Amino acid sequence: MDKKIPEIYGSLVFNDKVMRDKLPKDIYKALRKTIDNNTHLELDVANAVAVAMKEWAIEHGATHFTHWFQPLTGYTAEKHDSFISPGACGDITMDFSGKELVKGEPDASSFPSGGIRATFEARGYTNWDPTSPAFIKDGTLCIPTAFCSYSGEALDKKTPLLRSMEAISREAVKVLKLLGRDDATGVTTTVGPEQEYFLIDEEDYKKRKDLIFTGRTLLGAMPPKGQEMEDHYFGALKPRVSEYMHELDEELWKLGIPAKTKHNEVAPCQHELAPVFDTTNVAVDRNQLTMEIMKKVAKKHGYVCLLHEKPFAGVNGSGKHNNWSISMTGGENLLDPGKTPDENIQFLVFLLAVISAVDDYADLLRLSVASAGNDHRLGANEAPPAIISIFLGDELTAVLDSIENDKLFDKKGKVRMDIGAKVLPHFTKDTTDRNRTSPFAFTGNKFEFRSLGSSFSVAGPNTVLNTAVAEELSKFYEELKDVPKAKFSEAVHALLKKAIKAHKRVIFNGNGYTDEWVKEAEKRGLYNFRSTPEVLPRLIDKKNVALFKKHGIYSETELKARYEVMLENYCKTLHIEALTMQDMVVKQFLPALLEYTDEVIGSALSKKTLSDSLSTKTEEKQAEILSSHYEKIYDLNEKLKKDVVKAEKIADYQKQATFYHETVIPDMEKLRAVADEAELLIPDEFLPYPTYEQMLFYV
Ligand code: ADP
Ligand code: MG
Repeated sequence: MDKKIPEIYGSLVFNDKVMRDKLPKDIYKALRKTIDNNTHLELDVANAVAVAMKEWAIEHGATHFTHWFQPLTGYTAEKHDSFISPGACGDITMDFSGKELVKGEPDASSFPSGGIRATFEARGYTNWDPTSPAFIKDGTLCIPTAFCSYSGEALDKKTPLLRSMEAISREAVKVLKLLGRDDATGVTTTVGPEQEYFLIDEEDYKKRKDLIFTGRTLLGAMPPKGQEMEDHYFGALKPRVSEYMHELDEELWKLGIPAKTKHNEVAPCQHELAPVFDTTNVAVDRNQLTMEIMKKVAKKHGYVCLLHEKPFAGVNGSGKHNNWSISMTGGENLLDPGKTPDENIQFLVFLLAVISAVDDYADLLRLSVASAGNDHRLGANEAPPAIISIFLGDELTAVLDSIENDKLFDKKGKVRMDIGAKVLPHFTKDTTDRNRTSPFAFTGNKFEFRSLGSSFSVAGPNTVLNTAVAEELSKFYEELKDVPKAKFSEAVHALLKKAIKAHKRVIFNGNGYTDEWVKEAEKRGLYNFRSTPEVLPRLIDKKNVALFKKHGIYSETELKARYEVMLENYCKTLHIEALTMQDMVVKQFLPALLEYTDEVIGSALSKKTLSDSLSTKTEEKQAEILSSHYEKIYDLNEKLKKDVVKAEKIADYQKQATFYHETVIPDMEKLRAVADEAELLIPDEFLPYPTYEQMLFYV
């Protein structure tokens, strides 16, 4: 690294420091007010900001600008415009106006909209989100924006997220004020996403149609050694991987992304990167950028970065842990148990708001992590189960127990406590047991939602989380708002007690991978949605529509649109996977199998020509086995082909998705099982693509 880190850190970001340096004082103040308090931005302010932004961007080598947004594809989108503006005498000036900064009009017709935007109303708008800093990427000034249709419906992931952040802030402030926090002006939710990924050789990647078209391998037998030795997790970094990570860190730092932790993960070729947490919408933007930069830097090192949830069957897949907390403007973490009793009441109120939210809206949380890719992980004993439950740890569970039963909280005979609602022992992070099997774990001063897939935008899950907690806080407020001061403490205690009684079923500190838990969860009445098609209809369930409408997050139209987009996405993913598999089987695998069978037969024939007494029994047997696999694979592929045709004829997307799940996926699994068995019978060089062994162990 030739430059010092503090020098390069944020060097490509139009951050607060740059704004303070570049903007006239009154303009800076006005902009700050918009950022901090969500107030309207006047055009003259926008104009002044645009000029400063343009000058700064040009100084840093930018020639273009783009409104950078997050359509429902889950990726980011950008359309570049240059700053140039031709003059009358053949000259040019570099221009960028406040209007161009604040609003863009990309053609919206080619982005998924779930039927909201018919193609004749192709117009969409992008609106500047001043709360997420602009940055320079590849010589283009990128302006984070929200994306909506001509008629105002959100067509992106950011708009609902911003709405949910407002909702939780509004509801939390009301509750905080009741609790005597007159200093409460707003709260923000914070997110630190831990990102898992695979690195494989680009040369290998290019030979695998399945990786190219679907991001995961559809065929491939396990090598003699998998991850069972657990020698990769936290292992020493190989020099080439280490070089990659260095450059990745540096590129992220330039963009002001505080990449902090990196290590090898459980599976061979699997790694993780975690940044320092940030305000939710900034964290969302940065995670999107992180995924993009991970892929880009990988190419420079001869790698391909795989972000699919399950690139290799039989090897751990990749997830994303969404660390989440709520803090007051100014930084006080509301999920930090703290040391003083007053704060503890506040902590308990917020803790129970979260617990209630997770219980009441477990279906939505499950839905927010549903995708064809993540279906391979959830409930597969490597990722959290599909049942949403909360891990609290023994100590906090005991505290809640004492509140519920009006018992004195007794911590190992040392600290005699008043009723739990009043006093809570200082709760240290170390006392939380690490429970890797829980989908939603309290980890000292934050919750870790662990069910996200590695390729996900974290916008969706956080939109649900923020909204659900906002709703519980609003219920708490309604219950407490008219209580006279003298009775307030008592009322809070009663409220906590009621919430614990109602929602403790969602708390589970045990091993989530066991069958007993599945049975127990069913007894407790918890949801267990095993697949994406099963859970998606919950998005338009009455209770959930009411929730989103009440807090102004999604209209019913927007929800229906999203439901359709998710279904469509699921069906398309499966369709592409099924076609790719057929293609590989017909054009690559079966020919390879046939070629080797021929070779075996050929060997038998030459033996026979040499001498009648030479035995060809083994070759015959082998040829028989190979031929029988050939036939089975051929037939299973024919069945898959027919079923895909059937699937595509189903007009109703929900029915189509269910058919893919119930019929096409099992077809693919059966076909794969036989093909993988056959793969073990033929020499590697007969295959036109690299095996698992070559991809995972020779990087
Ligand atoms: P793990 O041990 O699970 O790898 P760490 O303690 O290293 O977890 O933290 C993981 C992530 O949690 C980091 O991105 C960190 O910045 C984030 N984090 C820490 N505190 C908060 C918070 N208050 N809100 C949101 N995320 C947080
Ligand atoms: Mg973690």
